[in-house]
This record gives sequence, structure tokens and C-alpha cells, in this order.
Amino acid sequence: MAFYCYTDIEDPHLEVKRHRKFLKELDAKARIYIAYNGINAQMSLRQEDAYSYIDWLKSDPRFANTMFKMDPSDEHVFPRLTIKFRKQLVSLDKLPDIAKGGEHVPPEKWKKMLEERDENTILIDVRNGYESNIGHFDGAECPPLEAFREFPQYAEELAHRKDPKKTKVMMYCTGGIRCETYSALLKELGFNEVYQLLGGVIHYGHEVGNEYWKGKLFVFDDRLSVPLSDEKHELISNCHFCNKKCDTYYNCANMDCNELFLCCPDCAEKYRGCCCEECSKSKRRRPYEKTERPKPFRKWYHYSETKEKIQNDDDTSGN
Ligand SMILES: [Zn+2]
Ligand SMILES: [Zn+2]
Repeated sequence: MAFYCYTDIEDPHLEVKRHRKFLKELDAKARIYIAYNGINAQMSLRQEDAYSYIDWLKSDPRFANTMFKMDPSDEHVFPRLTIKFRKQLVSLDKLPDIAKGGEHVPPEKWKKMLEERDENTILIDVRNGYESNIGHFDGAECPPLEAFREFPQYAEELAHRKDPKKTKVMMYCTGGIRCETYSALLKELGFNEVYQLLGGVIHYGHEVGNEYWKGKLFVFDDRLSVPLSDEKHELISNCHFCNKKCDTYYNCANMDCNELFLCCPDCAEKYRGCCCEECSKSKRRRPYEKTERPKPFRKWYHYSETKEKIQNDDDTSGN
């Protein structure tokens, strides 16, 4: 289950405690971030527990309008229950006014807009490059971002490249939270017409299926990537070594490297789960285990943050 809610939280630390108290009674694993400006959560729990949590959360007027997205899974997709205070939900140096963000477009209407787009419409995938690599909307511009904080620079560049007054922007992300901030940022830069996909790609997959979508959807949990719907999907990415079509991500098994890379099963075996020859000879190498679906070694959210951060996250990732 995934959701976010922008709302004023006067005492986020207290809210963290309240959440811990409620959730520790359930068989719940999650990554929940609580900030002064809201909550962002991804969790795995039994269906009946999910509904009791939803009832509990919605009974608080601050969270009453939250939209929840659910996907069935037959096992937990997070290593543990993590509930943390964060200064901001989406870390940017300067936060735009979210209330002035782009118009939310529900999936069916989004599909229609995709069909009707003209040369003055730009479709932007605002996720990071490693996410859009394995799947995106057909015809989307996919900037090679490595972290959230790189978006403002891309936005400035876009405002120079395209006339903000004449360009219609359609933007999307995984679950919608990043677009809340980014669409507001583009509006601040003078773009008049900015649309954001309501509930993100996850919601589109549930409502529409994979029409106009190519490849898979990157997710920030143990599954790493999921198909958008039960329909057949094509592979659009390649093995980092041999270039064979593939959409399986690995973290380099060399703990001092941790590079995220796409790898086919044969090359994974050959390089023992490492990103290069050199790493495969490293002393600090995790033992290689052949598996269909390799699990991440640390939190994806902090993929491009400092080494120190990565090591801290290693401590909490259960690997
Ligand atoms: Zn390969
Ligand atoms: Zn490596």
C-alpha cells in the first residue's frame, strides 16, 4: 500500500510515536516519513490490517482526504517497520507553494490527453533516470536525474528551451508525490499549463492498464520493478555488460561500490553480482546468490546520497 498526504503536522515527532504505537500491534512493515508538511508512506501488511489502518488514519481530519493505492503481494516487500521524522517530504533546497501546483488529471482523462497531444505539448517523466530506464510513457522526455534535488536545474533549463507561455506540460511520477512539488516549481517558472497525473503511474496502471506505457514500473521496495498490469509488456532496457534485453536491477555486491545496474542472469553469475571486473575481485564483496529477483541492499530513496548515508541505511535495511 502506498499513499502520501500534504497536510500541516504541528508535531511530527509526536505523529511518529502515534504511528509506531498503532502499527506495532499489526504485522506491518513499512517506510513511513512524517514531516511538518505531511506524510509519505509505503507499507506491506495484511489486507484486513490495511483497512483498519486506513480507518484509523482517516478518522483524523488532517488525513481524511488521503488517496490510498494498493497492490497485492504474497510476501512482505519491506525489511522492517521504519517510521521516521523528515524535515521535508521531497527534499529540495527551496520549496515551492504546493497549493499552486499543476492540475490533477485522473487516469482516463490522462489517456485521452496522451492521444490528443500536439507539438506544443511536452510529456515529462520526472522520476530519476534509473527509474525511467526500465519503463516510461511512450514519447516521454526522461531527464537523466539522479536525485530529487536535481530537478530544479532541469526545470530552469526547460524554461529556456521551451516557451513557458506556449508549452503545455504533462508530468508524471510513480505515485504522484513528486509532481506536487515539481509542477508547482514549473508554474513558478512561468509555465501556465501544467498537468500532473493523479495517483501517478501506479493509479494509471490500476485504472487504465499499460496502454501507452512501455516496459515496467520501478518501485522503491524489495520487488524493485513491477508490471503495470497483467497485460504483456515489452523490455526496453539492456544488460549493462552484454546489452541483452533485460530489466533486472542489482546493487553491486561490492559494499564499497553499491552501484545500481541492470544485469542479465548470465552476467550476474559471471561477475558474481558485481558491476565490473574490479568490484568482483573486491574483498568486501557480499556472497553471490543466484536468484530470479535480487533484493535491494539499502534504501532506494537515498540512492545518490553520500557514502556515509548509504552505510547508515545499510544498517537498517536488513541485509
Ligand atoms: Zn548480460
Ligand atoms: Zn561495483
